Amino acid sequence: KPPQHRKGTFTDVPQELLTELKNLEELLTITPETLIKITDHFITELDKGLSKKGGNIPMIPGWVLDFPTGKETGDYLAIDLGGTNLRVVLVKLGGNRDFDTTQSKFALPKHMRTATSDELFDFIAECLKKFVDEEFPEGVSAPLPLGFTFSYPASQNSINEGVLQRWTKGFDIDGVEGKDVVPLLQASIEKVQVPIEVVALINDTTGTLVASMYTDSEAKMGLIFGTGCNGAYYDVVKDIPKLEGLIPDDIDAESPMAINCEYGAFDNEHLVLPRTKYDIQIDKESPRPGQQSFEKMINTSFPAKIEEDPFENLSDVADLFQNQLGIQTTSAERKIIRVLAEKIGERSSRLSICGIAAICKKRGYKSAHCAADGSVYNKYPGFKERAAQGLRDIFKWESKEDPIIIVPAEDGSGAGAAIIAALTQKRLKEGKS
Ligand code: BGC
Ligand code: MG
Repeated sequence: KPPQHRKGTFTDVPQELLTELKNLEELLTITPETLIKITDHFITELDKGLSKKGGNIPMIPGWVLDFPTGKETGDYLAIDLGGTNLRVVLVKLGGNRDFDTTQSKFALPKHMRTATSDELFDFIAECLKKFVDEEFPEGVSAPLPLGFTFSYPASQNSINEGVLQRWTKGFDIDGVEGKDVVPLLQASIEKVQVPIEVVALINDTTGTLVASMYTDSEAKMGLIFGTGCNGAYYDVVKDIPKLEGLIPDDIDAESPMAINCEYGAFDNEHLVLPRTKYDIQIDKESPRPGQQSFEKMINTSFPAKIEEDPFENLSDVADLFQNQLGIQTTSAERKIIRVLAEKIGERSSRLSICGIAAICKKRGYKSAHCAADGSVYNKYPGFKERAAQGLRDIFKWESKEDPIIIVPAEDGSGAGAAIIAALTQKRLKEGKS
């Protein structure tokens, strides 16, 4: 739903508040020039991430070495470990750019975000067992291949491994950072004796990219705008200097390679992002200060709720402040809050598309469908319109229709994980690395 535009009078708002409001509005304004400057620096950082020396943005090769054709078939399991749920999906790939899914969601017990490694992986294995027992009451003849969507920065030297660099998004489980999570999950699966083989570990953005390419041949990027913010795209092996010496001989230099950018970490050195004192405070009070700088300027749910409240009334704003913060607001204050929430939402949307613009410029895409998912993309009022305007401000197209557009993604952690598992099994059968 697009945001309600500012209505009503501000006659009850004292002049000094109006002046302060104007200052804050200016502080939160992202001009086209700023967007272009950020995008240019973004490109430099993407390149650094691909270099041997590395940079702020991890640019993790995902070892998906094929494009999906839309003809992939077969039955696969997929799991997605999110912040609130564990999602387990059975995916039947139809082979005609189509698929069917059956899924169960298991609420992640609250303590799980800070539990032990064994507790987490045993929990996942138990859920998998429940799901398989239900979906295959007669049992299964061969181990079920599983694609594991793990939406955290995990280094990969092959498709079926992922060494967690560090937790993000408030997860904090000891004993997992620095470890390969695939054997951890596989060991817990063995304990419950359910015939499942983890064949691929993928990032949510990579899954989104591949699922969207399976159904849409124009798709060029997979994006998540949610609790985290990140993107994936296909680069080419020969253009990834840090892969030198790590590529098996049978993989061509011209081969595509999916890259999980992990650009939530963009500008951790604070060179270009227009951080305000409020951004600095949010970072300081966060579980991991100094990390995920870009991401921390994009997500949150309260401003969305404030923007959804019609300007004439603002009773939700009153309740929100009363119930969440114990602050009683005046009508004048609520108007100010509402205007500021709009500015914050607008700023986030505009900043968040710099990653898209940078990748399109870097790879020279003249047109593209950028497939997006996540709570901010799906639910934040006005996000889509503002994001599109941000891209226009950067590219200054003259055509009537925007050549680079953000489109709703296909199910990345279900279909995407399954398609990647299918691509992996096909390579194995053909004896390829
Ligand atoms: C994680 C990424 C993930 C993104 C969106 C970030 O915090 O580091 O791996 O893709 O959130 O879920
Ligand atoms: Mg997710």
